[in-house]
Amino acid sequence: MPLLEGSVGVEDLVLLEPLVEESLLKNLQLRYENKEIYTYIGNVVISVNPYQQLPIYGPEFIAKYQDYTFYELKPHIYALANVAYQSLRDRDRDQCILITGESGSGKTEASKLVMSYVAAVCGKGEQVNSVKEQLLQSNPVLEAFGNAKTIRNNNSSRFGKYMDIEFDFKGSPLGGVITNYLLEKSRLVKQLKGERNFHIFYQLLAGADEQLLKALKLERDTTGYAYLNHEVSRVDGMDDASSFRAVQSAMAVIGFSEEEIRQVLEVTSMVLKLGNVLVADEFQASGIPASGIRDGRGVREIGEMVGLNSEEVERALCSRTMETAKEKVVTALNVMQAQYARDALAKNIYSRLFDWIVNRINESIKVGIGEKKKVMGVLDIYGFEILEDNSFEQFVINYCNEKLQQVFIEMTLKEEQEEYKREGIPWTKVDYFDNGIICKLIEHNQRGILAMLDEECLRPGVVSDSTFLAKLNQLFSKHGHYESKVTQNAQRQYDHTMGLSCFRICHYAGKVTYNVTSFIDKNNDLLFRDLLQAMWKAQHPLLRSLFPEGNPKQASLKRPPTAGAQFKSSVAILMKNLYSKSPNYIRCIKPNEHQQRGQFSSDLVATQARYLGLLENVRVRRAGYAHRQGYGPFLERYRLLSRSTWPHWNGGDREGVEKVLGELSMSSGELAFGKTKIFIRSPKTLFYLEEQRRLR
Ligand code: ATP
Ligand code: MG
Repeated sequence: MPLLEGSVGVEDLVLLEPLVEESLLKNLQLRYENKEIYTYIGNVVISVNPYQQLPIYGPEFIAKYQDYTFYELKPHIYALANVAYQSLRDRDRDQCILITGESGSGKTEASKLVMSYVAAVCGKGEQVNSVKEQLLQSNPVLEAFGNAKTIRNNNSSRFGKYMDIEFDFKGSPLGGVITNYLLEKSRLVKQLKGERNFHIFYQLLAGADEQLLKALKLERDTTGYAYLNHEVSRVDGMDDASSFRAVQSAMAVIGFSEEEIRQVLEVTSMVLKLGNVLVADEFQASGIPASGIRDGRGVREIGEMVGLNSEEVERALCSRTMETAKEKVVTALNVMQAQYARDALAKNIYSRLFDWIVNRINESIKVGIGEKKKVMGVLDIYGFEILEDNSFEQFVINYCNEKLQQVFIEMTLKEEQEEYKREGIPWTKVDYFDNGIICKLIEHNQRGILAMLDEECLRPGVVSDSTFLAKLNQLFSKHGHYESKVTQNAQRQYDHTMGLSCFRICHYAGKVTYNVTSFIDKNNDLLFRDLLQAMWKAQHPLLRSLFPEGNPKQASLKRPPTAGAQFKSSVAILMKNLYSKSPNYIRCIKPNEHQQRGQFSSDLVATQARYLGLLENVRVRRAGYAHRQGYGPFLERYRLLSRSTWPHWNGGDREGVEKVLGELSMSSGELAFGKTKIFIRSPKTLFYLEEQRRLR
């Protein structure tokens, strides 16, 4: 247990002295500079993105970590994966691995390390190997359709992911279930400078052979597509063409038929081509400008590919039918409205396609009902976000992080409490900030911000983002975690950083100002019925199946749930799932903004350490017993401190530990002897033991 040795800082932050932000950062930096990217807080792993391939992965390391207990080797994700897997297999406790951190911090890579570790150590045989392959191959497929190059990360996941891996009673994998959260569909029609659309488009154009391109009616050149950012079509170190082949073969391994793969690519191509459908001004006889399709070829090609009449598509894009009880009124859309409709359609098709792919994978990897299962969940989800301009997406992402923080606090404490109970040690209460009040502010069924937003979306009459904001201001003027210009003015605080169309939430991780512009629209997330119906009329089986509500016979007048309501309910399901398992945490940190190896920006890391609540985590961990270890390994390390146990000791481990600590005359409150472990209250005692060891 090399906790303090050498010049690479402490391996467990519980041992940090003094426990302040500065020493915490220094410690992480020192370790990072020595290529020690992993550090513990008890059983939590902090991972600082190395931005280089370190020689610490692969079969040799997997074998090593499999044979040792947690604290015996250097901190590593493998150690955490090993503990989680073993307690699932041997102690029958379902596990979840929660991976959080901001964009580019290494969450997805960490989740793949966990998966590959577990795949390497669990079960053998042809059947088992084929399940493992399917589970592992889901990654390249989801990354192709759900990841993109952003300014912060060349391979950024633009969706949240939770995957349950299911095992039989012996610990061999049976299959799994993937849940996806909130794909960033706005990227489909527009990308920031220096960013790209989802990888699949570039992969398809670069990797498809001539025959496939022709069948999909595509041109190889990316500059021909309005939806692709022309500034960046290639990413350093990324080979789109070979990724395309990898995606195709991954889909085949998972069990997609050739026909299904073709249909997926057809819908992908359709979306890309939709972006080129130009909607231009046309003057109607009445003299009112209305929209019309300027170049019919694109629409015709789309129509041919998905079995749709091109006039039908044009009508759906350029007009809108309003139905009342008595009559149908068709109004022409102006150009802006028609372009909006086109983009909404493209985003809708793509996000439904993404959901379909996730479901299709799930179908392949699902485990039969009735099979007894043990489960390991792996959560790779967006961390807390504070951008320059924060909108609806940041609001729900940060809400999710509030909920995860709650899980963290409750489960860490619960887990501690349970360990004490198991070991027969009295529990001492720990004080901490309970962020329940912020969760309630957002999610309360009648009076939460999400409920207010839904109410505003459903209310007849003139509603707008500003009527929504007015409502919030009225309701929450006295709430300790809510601020806006209006509430500030009422309290005579003049803060020039907050705009009139903004509200601010004091999150557990810091204050975030949200701009309400387009909250209503994004929450509504509605597609005109004309478009839904047009898509349902397509002869293309996959496209048609994506729009079941387009079937006029099934069309219900009931509105689909809003985006906020859907997110809230999927978060609730996730929470329930997590609470039923033992948690394991990986906290990822991005060391610099430039995706560069070797650079450690203290300011940047400090902000993340705050969002991740690292200090709080150490504090909670230290409040009880800072350190605990099985009697065997503890004795092995410290038996040289006692004449009774060194150089020979023939007694039991526990008696040996009692001898060692007895001779050092430790104060009794400092130690607790559990059933299988020794507990040490303060880090100072451990320092002392280490010091003594070094002096021998
Ligand atoms: P996002 O939220 O944008 O999806 P993320 O937290 O999932 O970000 P990753 O995609 O996992 O971030 O990591 C970003 C990049 O950092 C990787 O593509 C890889 O180049 C590098 N990286 C991350 N972890 C490691 C690691 N352990 N070893 C080597 N490189 C790594
Ligand atoms: Mg990711």
